[in-house]
Amino acid sequence: MKVITSISDMQESVDAELRLNHTIGFVPTMGYLHEGHLSLVDQAKKENDFVVVSLFVNPLQFGPNEDFDQYPRDFNRDRKVAEDAGVDVLFCPQAVEMYPRTPVVSVSVDQRTNVLCGQSRPGHFNGVATVLTKLFHIVVPNRVYFGRKDAQQAAVIEGMVEDFNFRLDIVTCPTVRETDGVALSSRNIHLSQTEREEARNLYQSLQYGERFYNAGETNVQQLQTKVLEFLEKNIHEGVIDYVDVLSYPDLTKKQTCTGDMIIAIAVQYKKARLIDNIILIGK
Ligand code: AMP
Repeated sequence: MKVITSISDMQESVDAELRLNHTIGFVPTMGYLHEGHLSLVDQAKKENDFVVVSLFVNPLQFGPNEDFDQYPRDFNRDRKVAEDAGVDVLFCPQAVEMYPRTPVVSVSVDQRTNVLCGQSRPGHFNGVATVLTKLFHIVVPNRVYFGRKDAQQAAVIEGMVEDFNFRLDIVTCPTVRETDGVALSSRNIHLSQTEREEARNLYQSLQYGERFYNAGETNVQQLQTKVLEFLEKNIHEGVIDYVDVLSYPDLTKKQTCTGDMIIAIAVQYKKARLIDNIILIGK
């Protein structure tokens, strides 16, 4: 596995693959790799000749009071994990390589961001869309792999790829969970033992909502209330940030479930903000 830190070296490596007519699969990450990331790598390896993983904690997508400085980082561990997973290139630029000066142009997301994390984290998705635009231009992937766990991110980036005519496919992969249902996340390391135990209630609340949907409940407000009640009863260490039921992927409010819907939740713990969601498939 090659570890690349400069954009020009990354472009050179990509050019060599393109000359061989190789397809490129790309997995963008912020590092502290876990099985969730590796499921994306596995899928990318199945579908492409060459797999690039980026490891970049993007300052642009963190608000002033968010956890940029505390975000878990362990380069040596990530390097070994990526190498063992069969990654071809680990692209890990420094912030000054990506943003050598204040950008003249950045990407501003207009839809799908006035709800969920977009509402709680103003500017977050502009930062995500800007860095991914740069990374897509640098890596020139055929396919880019995202986790369903960050469903709003996938919805925003799918929209951007269509709007800006990027010649790549977005592949969204299922959320990988611990045995008790907690979605794997780099931030889980910051949970205390009691918080970690309590965190299982996030997925349980989503499953609780899904059961009502499967039993025939299609009233969005009713579903939202059920999930909220479950969380209010079971979350004591954390603070519920949001519970919402929206259409997916356009993330608009509806009165009645029609087509695919998403139940999405966020809970703020002392040092980690957890998000999770479940997709209700349209009947
Ligand atoms: P991150 O490093 O947290 O920015 O995540 C990088 C990519 O991995 C994103 O596409 C995430 O959606 C995905 N990802 C993170 N956690 C999981 C998980 N538990 N299951 C599947 N994909 C995940």
